[in-house]
Amino acid sequence: MNAPRAASAPQEAPGAVDWARVRADFPLLHRAVHDKPLIYFDNANTAQKPTAVIEAVDGYYRRFNANVSRAVHQLGTEATEAYEGARKRLARLLNVRADELVLCSGTTFAINLVAYSWALPRLGPGDTILVSRMEHHANIVPWQLVAERTGAAIRVAEIHEDGTLDREALARAMTPDVRLFAVAHVSNLLGTVNPVRELCREARRRGIVTVVDGSQAVPHRPVDVAAIGCDFYAFTGHKMLGPTGTGALWARREHLETMPPFIGGGEMIREVSFEGTVYNDPPHRFEAGTPNIAGFVGLTAAADYLDAIGLERIEAREAELLAHLTEALDAEDGVRILGRAPDKAAVVSFLVDGAHAHDLATLLDLEGVAIRSGQHCAHPLLQFYGVAATCRASLAFYNTHEEIDAFMAALRKVRRLLG
Ligand code: PMP
Repeated sequence: MNAPRAASAPQEAPGAVDWARVRADFPLLHRAVHDKPLIYFDNANTAQKPTAVIEAVDGYYRRFNANVSRAVHQLGTEATEAYEGARKRLARLLNVRADELVLCSGTTFAINLVAYSWALPRLGPGDTILVSRMEHHANIVPWQLVAERTGAAIRVAEIHEDGTLDREALARAMTPDVRLFAVAHVSNLLGTVNPVRELCREARRRGIVTVVDGSQAVPHRPVDVAAIGCDFYAFTGHKMLGPTGTGALWARREHLETMPPFIGGGEMIREVSFEGTVYNDPPHRFEAGTPNIAGFVGLTAAADYLDAIGLERIEAREAELLAHLTEALDAEDGVRILGRAPDKAAVVSFLVDGAHAHDLATLLDLEGVAIRSGQHCAHPLLQFYGVAATCRASLAFYNTHEEIDAFMAALRKVRRLLG
């Protein structure tokens, strides 16, 4: 197989990146929308893909498409090597063991796997699942489903007005009945970066199992899952420049060994008879059916691309863009930003006096600007702030300062139109 093309992210000097050349790697960013240059500020929703990822997927279908782990022929071997190569590549990115990484369709599947395979058989009446207020629905609803079926209770870990977790309340909430704590590494609505290492230490000291939703962290900063010390870490491929329908769950081997399968079928078995079936070892035990092989080939290229630029550089670049956008919005009358955590990713939720979020986003679209409006799959968080919807501009390293200025000009224009 041809290895995915390495990222072209050019480094002129150690620490310096030619961001204009990086941006040129993303074909979609150069299209027009409604005859205006596209300004793509919806990166927390999904990221655009560099040519390296697009070509890796294309190359897989052109050169070695076959099913994995089933065929002894050459193509099958190459496809299996590529799929297992993705596991090793992602494990390296996150500093975990490859045999502790379950490949799946994304964070939603990953958290449901924990809910159905770890929590459902273990929890019962009298147990409590602690969930932070700032979770995406993918880290709320699976726990509600478990609670309904087991009789366990859900408790909310509350936040402060600035969008940080209330650590004192959290310590009080970690009572002996709490079995599991679910928390985002980075909030998709507020951008808050939670101190997950400390949170997991506090939880584990009390014997509480920790589930960290890394969807908004892995694409934007170096993530060392081993150092975080959680029990489960979930992330999704499409937000980290990879194809949709890819992602993974990292879990401590001791959990994987004792978790029953979630989905049954091919690949996850060692031996099947009508008298009884012997399951495969983890992580394959949790990967029934034909996986998104092409997607994982693309995700391997995405991990290579991110690493070639360097996640430290990406984090620093996005911090600069965030500071610019925040300052510009703060300078506008009648604009309120939700989420002022000191450690914050480049996600800005905001409200504009007298304008509905959907109206703003619709009119901004006509100016070529793509932002998200609405509830961002985080209803309980909006309930906390007492608002029905926000606009959200979320940035990636390939965005530019010029785009932020153009976005602000477009925002002023649509505000004038809305009167
Ligand atoms: N958690 C967070 C924090 C997210 O931002 C998202 C995606 N919006 C998800 C979970 C769900 O990810 P996916 O739809 O890829 O499973």
